[in-house]
Amino acid sequence: MAFVYPDAIVSTAGHVDHGKTQTAYALSGVWVMKHSEEIKKAMTIKLGYAQVGIYDCGGEYYYTDGILANGRCPDGSEPKLVRRISLLDVPGHEVLVATMVSGAAVVDGAVLVVDASQPAPQPQTVEHFAVLDIIGVRRLVVAQNKIDLIPREKALENYQQIRKFLAGTWAEGAKVVPISALHRVNIDVLATYIAKSVPPREAELGRPPRFSVLRSFNVNPPGTPPEKLRGGVLGGTLLQGVLRVGDEIEVRPGLKVDKPKPGYQPIRTKVLSIEYSGVKVDEARPGGLVGVMTGLDPALAKADALAGAVAGAPGTLPPVWTAIEVEAKPIPRSAEGRGEPFKQGEVALVAVGPATVFGVVQAVKKDVVTLALKKAVCAEQGSKVVLIRQVKNRWIVTHYGVLKG
Ligand code: GDP
Ligand code: MG
Repeated sequence: MAFVYPDAIVSTAGHVDHGKTQTAYALSGVWVMKHSEEIKKAMTIKLGYAQVGIYDCGGEYYYTDGILANGRCPDGSEPKLVRRISLLDVPGHEVLVATMVSGAAVVDGAVLVVDASQPAPQPQTVEHFAVLDIIGVRRLVVAQNKIDLIPREKALENYQQIRKFLAGTWAEGAKVVPISALHRVNIDVLATYIAKSVPPREAELGRPPRFSVLRSFNVNPPGTPPEKLRGGVLGGTLLQGVLRVGDEIEVRPGLKVDKPKPGYQPIRTKVLSIEYSGVKVDEARPGGLVGVMTGLDPALAKADALAGAVAGAPGTLPPVWTAIEVEAKPIPRSAEGRGEPFKQGEVALVAVGPATVFGVVQAVKKDVVTLALKKAVCAEQGSKVVLIRQVKNRWIVTHYGVLKG
């Protein structure tokens, strides 16, 4: 049977501890988020993701990998695969914002997880909702989580608060599904509404392949003899086109070089194999998260060294920048203390495309901020850019805008 490609990326969203990771686990059956939950110095965005199969068992609601018992329908029959989606669970709140706004992964829909035992909305629920709006996500399902903790009346009260919050917004008609992610209650209903609310992406298959590198790995155990070494693996998402086994690719920015003059040299290599969560396929398509094994020296790819790079057909990739000008607008936030003007010499994190790098503010003119980047980025002029600033010892997303030049 032909492989059924994941056809959309669905992200979790919502206030910290409301159960995003637990919900992703309930849906997928795997712990999606294994990474540290904070933005670290010199961080790269580490996204957790899982491929989730959605199945028809003949009943009113669909099943998923997370709730099928031993891969079987409740009556013991073989589940019928309806579609696959990629489920994204992001580490911390700020990373979610940066990743989504900068377009490292194109998100087709979101599950807004709301803890029903608390008054709604909580601050990050409001902020995430604003971010979904900024990036143009228009497909939303609300998971009203932790209903195991509260009596029915409380759940109804919370439901009314959520409805009031959504009223008059783009998500006015969103389904609100009461669930317990921990006890796997109503996950079938949630999955059904996700499948019905988030249509498959219309992939731009005719354009040259462009791959957003979100992670990179050396998959060889220590001590592997040279003849058995496997090439560097790139994890990420295809933004457009089709990437095939055997394709020649270029990775940019690539290697930092001093000669003939200081700059970056794209790395050329070949696609050796392609995998979706352990399933080998001949080609990758947009709409899912995928692992691509290349002929690259595995040392180049180890420990996310290539995260933030862009890969694609040679000669078709965007320019590489070591300094950028951004027209920046403040992000709507619920918390205070973030609107101060940028100062010359200030260090900020810059998220653009799949990359997040440090930048030093060189000049500020009205809304236009010029930054020198510590590490080059590969991005189209006009790309969305997110600026993350240090406020009271925390890194906080404060501005977004476009790459002017
Ligand atoms: P996140 O920060 O939104 O990803 O939240 P987590 O998924 O890490 O969950 C935060 C805490 O809430 C954890 O201790 C979970 O075990 C707990 N939790 C998540 N879902 C439920 C639920 O449905 N019921 C109960 N009682 N606890 C839950
Ligand atoms: Mg989490």
